[in-house]
Amino acid sequence: MSDSPEETPIAKDFFARPVEEQADFLAQTWCNQCMEMDLGMKNPKEYETSQRLWIEGECVNCGAQVITEIVYEDDE
Ligand SMILES: [Zn+2]
Repeated sequence: MSDSPEETPIAKDFFARPVEEQADFLAQTWCNQCMEMDLGMKNPKEYETSQRLWIEGECVNCGAQVITEIVYEDDE
């Protein structure tokens, strides 16, 4: 028996985001199968832990899982 070191992600509602943000996240992708960026993703699901926030979906081109990590930058 061992405790998982990974925190259980919380599922978020991707579609609660503004439509423009949704469109950006769906368009700005990287696919490890296609080795190409911005092919787009479908079936997006958003997850969050205390450390990370990311969106998982499927590559529009090949159907492989693509993950977009959301990084909030504190500039000010
Ligand atoms: Zn792909």
